[in-house]
This record gives sequence, C-alpha cells and structure tokens, in this order.
Amino acid sequence: MTTYTAYAPGRINLIGEHTDYNLGFAMPIALEERTTVTFEPDGSDRITLASDEEGVGSAFDVTAQPGDVDGWASYAAGVVWALAQAGHPVVGGAMSVHSDVPIGAGLSSSAALECAVLLSMNAATGTELDNLDVARLAQRGENDFVGAPTGLMDQLASLGGEVDRALLIDFETSSVEPVAFELDAHDLVLLVVNSNAAHQHSTGEYRARRESCTRAARELGVDTLRDVQGEDVLERIGDSVDRARVRHVLSENQRVLECAKAMASGDFRRVGTLMDQSHASMRDDFEITTPHIDLIAESLGVHGALGARMTGGGFGGCVIALVPAPDVDRITTAVTSDIAERGFPDPTIFTARAGRGAALVNDRT
Ligand code: ADP
Ligand code: MG
Repeated sequence: MTTYTAYAPGRINLIGEHTDYNLGFAMPIALEERTTVTFEPDGSDRITLASDEEGVGSAFDVTAQPGDVDGWASYAAGVVWALAQAGHPVVGGAMSVHSDVPIGAGLSSSAALECAVLLSMNAATGTELDNLDVARLAQRGENDFVGAPTGLMDQLASLGGEVDRALLIDFETSSVEPVAFELDAHDLVLLVVNSNAAHQHSTGEYRARRESCTRAARELGVDTLRDVQGEDVLERIGDSVDRARVRHVLSENQRVLECAKAMASGDFRRVGTLMDQSHASMRDDFEITTPHIDLIAESLGVHGALGARMTGGGFGGCVIALVPAPDVDRITTAVTSDIAERGFPDPTIFTARAGRGAALVNDRT
C-alpha cells in the first residue's frame, strides 16, 4: 500500500487584521507547529478519517455536497469537494490526522488541516497545483462547505512559510513577498499569549465587519477599500460606525507596509510601536477586542514588551508580543499574575518562530 504524508503549519498574523477581504495587506508567519495528514488511497469513493485530536472518527463520500457532512470532517470533505468542483481528480481511502497546532485559538488549525489534506490528496492523484491554486481551493472549502467566511491569508501563510521570514501578502494580486524576520539576531522573542477565551459571537461579528466594509466601499463608489486612500475619504462615509471600521482598514494597511520596511531594516522598536498602534485600532475603531484581550496586551507593554497586539479575527484568541529574550520568563510570570488578579482564565504562553510552509513528507510504497 502506498501512503502519502503531507504537513501544513498553523500561522500567526504579525500585523494586518481584517485587511484580506478588503484586498489590502497583511504580514503573517507560518509556525513550526503543524498538522500532518497521512493518506492511504484505496480506489474507493469513500474517505474514512481519524484524528488524534478528535476522539470520534468520521467518514464521507468523495461526492459529498455542502450540508452533507458536519463537525471536523467537514474541513476535509470541503477541500475534497472544492477539488472535484474544479475538475481535479479525487479518490477514497483512509486519512489520519495529527496536529500540534492549538485548535480554535486563532492560529489557524483549520487552514493547516485543509492544506495538509489537499497536499496528500494531490500527491495520491498526481495533481500538481501551485500554492495560490491550493490556497483558493482550501478557502473555497472553508467558505462554501464548512460555512466559515474567511479570507485567503491563513492558507497562503500555511503554504508559503519560510524559516525566519514573514510573508508580506498583497491581497489585490495575491502576491507573497518574504521579509526578513530575524529575531535571534536582535535577541528578541515572539511571545504568544493564548487567552484561552472562547470566541463568542465571532462569526456574527466577523460578518458584520465585512458588511460595514462592503457598505462603505459602495458609498465611496469603489469595488473594494483597496481603491481608496487617505483620511479625506472618511468624511464621505455617513455612518459613524462604518467610518471607524474604514479608518481601521486604511490605517492598518499603511502599518503593514511600514512594518515590512522596519523589519527589513531591523528596526524592531518601530515594529513594536506599529503593533501597539494596530492593537489600539482594533480596539477603538474596529471594535474586535475584549476587555480580557486588552488587559493582556496592556500588561505585556507595561512589563517590557516592545509592542503587543491581538492576532486573528478577534473576540478572544491570542495576543502576540515582541519581547527581549532575557525578559521572557519575567514577563510571562508578570502577565500571568495580572490576568489572574483580574479574574480571567489562565493563559497558555509560549514562544513562536517563523517556520517553513506546507510540504509533502514522502510517498512511501
Ligand atoms: P482555528 O483555525 O483558529 O484553530 P477554527 O474554528 O477556524 O479555529 O478551526 C478549528 C476547527 O478545525 C476545529 O474545531 C476542528 O473542527 C477542525 N480541526 C482543526 N485541526 C484539527 C485536527 N487536528 N483534527 C480534527 N479537527 C481539526
Ligand atoms: Mg480557522
């Protein structure tokens, strides 16, 4: 029996939140944490699934349509459906999943699973696609089969990751440009504070933010917010909430571009300042943070981070910070104690590094 094993990492977005569907800019890294899928095709029309992280296995037909599969299996069934819809071959067999990406923490275990399933299936069928095609198929599966309205960033980051590089993504062209993210050379560490807070109402809020952006673009007479620049346009938006949402998107795009320049020149003080500004914009203009998340970001700053910001869609998830390497333990202890003092759940705190993107591990016979 031939098996095909592929892995795909989770990701952290360093800066550029809610910019992807507005065709702006973002700068994620792929993580070293990854999801591995081993696929043993058997020529049938049925896929059986097992995951070390989910107790209950599952199965679905390769002809399954949106609505036919629910639960975690829908992420795998969705990309198989997207492949078939695009006219690519799919085949049944046994898939086993293992992951060390934290699930549901905003580190994109979903895209990691989708991309690993896609690469293992494509290896089995001899289908060769470039990263952008794979990313779009994974996004289609997540949007139209799972029913989660997400942009393209997670998949592009998972597929295109490079060691010690962040990825400057321009969502208008879907281009990905590696930018030096060499923390060791500056004795810095990327600290991740997982709030362990459930993302309450995040899907409804996400939709509402997208609708604000679409409505404002229509009011401004453009297809997307990418086509407008500068504070002047804000005066032309009648609704004050929509205006604030647009202010976040426009200012965030500028911060991403500035951050890429600062990182490339090794100016991590500036990077930290931009992270702080990004958090303030998400808190005040886009209103996607929570008091719990704001406390974590503030505490990180007070105890010596160069900058800190929530990462991911919002309403929970993780806060990231740039921290001097010698201060990691002290800051971890101090932040944990601040969180406990305010009565919020204990965080999980870890350091992250920019790792390589998805790949096929082998095809063993
Ligand atoms: P995130 O992408 O931030 O981790 P999501 O809610 O988008 O959070 O995706 C998490 C969902 O993806 C899980 O609830 C589960 O359905 C599925 N999933 C991700 N990783 C795995 C895995 N290793 N095994 C089974 N299901 C997984
Ligand atoms: Mg996800």
